[in-house]
Amino acid sequence: MTRIAVVEGDGIGREVIPVAQKALFLLHPEYEYFPVDVGYGRWEETGCPCGDTDIAALKTADAVLFGAITTPPVKDYQSVVLRIRKALDLYANLRPVKGTGFDIMIVRENTEGLYSGIEERGPDRATTLRVVTRAGTERIARAAIRCAQQRQGRLTIGHKANVLKSDVFFRDICAEEAKKAGVPYNEKFIDALGLDVLQHPQAYDVIVTTNIFGDILSDVASYLVGGLGLVPSANIGDRYALFEPVHGSAPDIAGKDIANPVAALRSAAMLLAHLGDTGGAGRIESAIQHVLASGIKTRDLGGSAGTRAFGNAVLALLETGQSGC
Ligand code: NAD
Repeated sequence: MTRIAVVEGDGIGREVIPVAQKALFLLHPEYEYFPVDVGYGRWEETGCPCGDTDIAALKTADAVLFGAITTPPVKDYQSVVLRIRKALDLYANLRPVKGTGFDIMIVRENTEGLYSGIEERGPDRATTLRVVTRAGTERIARAAIRCAQQRQGRLTIGHKANVLKSDVFFRDICAEEAKKAGVPYNEKFIDALGLDVLQHPQAYDVIVTTNIFGDILSDVASYLVGGLGLVPSANIGDRYALFEPVHGSAPDIAGKDIANPVAALRSAAMLLAHLGDTGGAGRIESAIQHVLASGIKTRDLGGSAGTRAFGNAVLALLETGQSGC
């Protein structure tokens, strides 16, 4: 039995993940779905945002569908998302940004770099250690290269090697791996890359980069497709996999039925593709395209449909099989 852990999390996660879960259920009623409650809301109620038993529960799933978690404004709060990514060793964060004439896959290293969690704050100085290891870089480079080989076969290494020694190291290892695999690559400084991705998105296929650069670059690149409400992601390790929108919990719009559920629906599609159901993934994407083309859009895209109304339109197409595939 295929088991899917469902983490709604906080804020708009509680609005968009139910839509995505219903889409999965319509396509796969035979899967077992079980909730795991972690995040800020859980911390407010119990003082614990994510316990060992939650991590153990996530590890029993074939895949995790994840919303987003609000970071509370308290000192010494440890990020739940980072804890889960580390505990499940989800080292490759794949963030596709696809539109007319371009199809980019950002492959972000997900377990080290500036998000290694080694930091301290004193009265006059704060430091965060940026850790880039050979093993961590080799495995993310190989994941990006495999991805490029399944796509257009081109790799771009995004880095800041003109300033950071840790990025000279990252760049050189990625280049070595690309040469070994016979995959053509180029490299670009991450600041220039941020602009060039917006100006010439068609020039890119797979972009591999470090943790924080990938985080920022994917938010920037989401501009190409209409914003954060549209971009999904996969967090993949050798044993576990977790699928979540790129966006956060968006407290500014939470509870108002205006969040765009497309990123969550696309994350569900990536989950299905990961489990081998590329047909089901395609049906979700076709249904999204069909609804958008019919003029039903959420507010971020200039429409007036609510989260539920947009979601119901997509779900109705999935239910009746009229999404065109
Ligand atoms: P955010 O992604 O939540 O929101 C940024 C902006 O985009 C907001 O104006 C928001 O309204 C808009 N937006 C985001 N998703 C949208 C959607 N589906 N439809 C329409 N508009 C959407 O980022 P933020 O405001 O920087 O962070 C809010 C909280 O989320 C913070 O506590 C942050 O730590 C957390 N966060 C969590 C994750 C995660 O759990 N993986 C990721 C990023 C941020």
